[in-house]
Amino acid sequence: MSAVTQRAGWSRLPLRAAAFVVLTCATILGVSGWREWAARDAVLKGAETEMANIARSLTQHAEDSLDLLDSGIVGVVSRLEIDGTAPATVAKLGTLLDARKKAIARIHSLDIIDDQGNWLTSPGTIGSTLSDDAFFRYHQLSPKREAYVGGPVKSLLDGEWVVPLSRRFNKQDGSFGGVVLATISSRYLSHFYEQFEIGRNSSVTLTHGGGMILARDPGNDKFVGRSVADTPFFREPSLQRPSGAYYFKSPLDGAERVSFFNRSSRFPLLLVATVDKDELLAPWRAAAISRMLYVLALVMLIAVIGGVLVRQLHRGQRMAVALAEKEAHFRLLAEGSSDMVTRIGLDERLRYVSPSSVRVVGWRPNQLIGTPALAGINPEDLPEVQAIVDAMKRGEKEEARFTYRNAHRQNGEVWLESTMRVTRRDNGDVDGVVAISRDITEQKKLETRLETLAIEDSLTGLANRRRFDERLKEEWARAYRDRSSLALLMIDVDHFKAYNDEYGHPAGDACLRLVAKIIAAETQRAGDLAARYGGEEFAVLLPNIDTAGCARIGERIRSAIHGAGLVHSTNPAAGCVTASVGGATCRPALERTAGVASLVEAADRALYAAKDAGRDCLVMSGEVMNLLPKASGQ
Ligand code: GH3
Ligand code: MG
Ligand code: MG
Repeated sequence: MSAVTQRAGWSRLPLRAAAFVVLTCATILGVSGWREWAARDAVLKGAETEMANIARSLTQHAEDSLDLLDSGIVGVVSRLEIDGTAPATVAKLGTLLDARKKAIARIHSLDIIDDQGNWLTSPGTIGSTLSDDAFFRYHQLSPKREAYVGGPVKSLLDGEWVVPLSRRFNKQDGSFGGVVLATISSRYLSHFYEQFEIGRNSSVTLTHGGGMILARDPGNDKFVGRSVADTPFFREPSLQRPSGAYYFKSPLDGAERVSFFNRSSRFPLLLVATVDKDELLAPWRAAAISRMLYVLALVMLIAVIGGVLVRQLHRGQRMAVALAEKEAHFRLLAEGSSDMVTRIGLDERLRYVSPSSVRVVGWRPNQLIGTPALAGINPEDLPEVQAIVDAMKRGEKEEARFTYRNAHRQNGEVWLESTMRVTRRDNGDVDGVVAISRDITEQKKLETRLETLAIEDSLTGLANRRRFDERLKEEWARAYRDRSSLALLMIDVDHFKAYNDEYGHPAGDACLRLVAKIIAAETQRAGDLAARYGGEEFAVLLPNIDTAGCARIGERIRSAIHGAGLVHSTNPAAGCVTASVGGATCRPALERTAGVASLVEAADRALYAAKDAGRDCLVMSGEVMNLLPKASGQ
């Protein structure tokens, strides 16, 4: 995967997480909603079943009631047809009917009506006729012998609404003899329906097949006798089945209602139980609302937690990008630098090495990463570097700069100058060190060269006058401290001006180099210092040596120069290059006239004494006085 697509994938991550949270919330809401809807359906189904059962039971009740009426009159019809309507017969039957009526509460009236529509029983109604009533006319015209259930009528007896059931009886000749009428009170049915508590906004209506309301609860008095023939139960073809449910919106209050209807198979009766859909669903709604509130709370919790997580993810990602950019900048700087940049972990192993390592130490970064960072350091320098690194790891030192020798793969050893800086985690703990190392070998060489130049005589390679003066002071102080002795030899080439004149200046230089070489060879002890004191004059500093030892070395030098046999024709005594040597020793701690100048003066005097004594000889300071009278003469 390339870095670009990886970054693009990263940037989409919070978006994907957010989408996941939204999807989760939507799914929970969706599933809960769907479950509630399913529960609502189940409630409606259950209610439908229950209401259908109620409708069926009430229809059954109406049928049973009519059957009861019918059973009360069917025997009377037979008697009338056999015995006729003679007053005695009618009176006997009237008594029977009265007894029956009293025995069965739901029967409102049981009466015999003659072929003219006149009441033969119930004296209270004498004088009124039923000849215009629908049921009477039906029997008058129809020869059918079955029981007939008519529409609701107002009873002539007490003005109450009743449902009539009647049968025709024939005369002996088969012609229409009259009607036996039984009625059931509409109010009785209505009271019966009242017992079924099917809801506040509900109603039970028993309707005649012709569309007239027979009984209703509630509001029986208001509705009975009204026609509902224009309602869908009579008009809508799909509702002409024996039973079912019908959903509709009430034209009165706009509320959704559902009617469960059942048609009697035996009588022209339609029973309709209507309930408020809202009321049906009320228990479900209350439970569903509380359940949905829990779900909503859960979803909100998920959304809030998800939101926080997405934000953190987003922030983390931004930080990662910033870190990557920082890292890129670091790399750009590190990799563009000619210095070697390394990052060292707390285990002192290299975590990162910039490409300049090839130039600085001769190894490629991949060869170095994971190896101990201090491995190439010269063992002499290692303790110092190790101490610095340890202090940095402990957090005692933030930054350090030091030079040391380090192994180079091809060039043996190089001098490196490193600047180290502690790196810390966000919590402030030290997590490593970044080092910038530069090759300073050339600089070191130059420094050494300058140092050498500062203390070395360029012609002879011996210490120069400056160096000599310094060392003289140091050795004097040391001898003073140690109460030891210090000796000095001054050596001057004889007739050197003449040598120059004779052989030329370059030859003079060569001669001086030879003399210097001889002097250096004779002063091998540690601490001895041979220096060019000036022109053709040399000085040898000999610590910890007595006068005899000093004289011995001075004599060796003198004879070695002479012994070299370098031709010097204008040196009349020897014919070769010779030198005069003056020596002096002292114990600085015992010197009364303390000071380095006294030793130099003493040696100088001895040298001049040697010159005076004829050159090519050694004179020790102690011998000067012996020679003076001869030399000075005064
Ligand atoms: P004496 O025996 O008394 O020491 O006599 P001398 O000629 O050696 O002494 P003098 O001091 O008169 O001469 C020293 C000469 O050394 C003078 C100078 O030309 C020569 N000289 C000094 N320094 C150098 C040098 O670096 N190279 C050369 N070739 N000659 C030098
Ligand atoms: Mg001289
Ligand atoms: Mg000289």
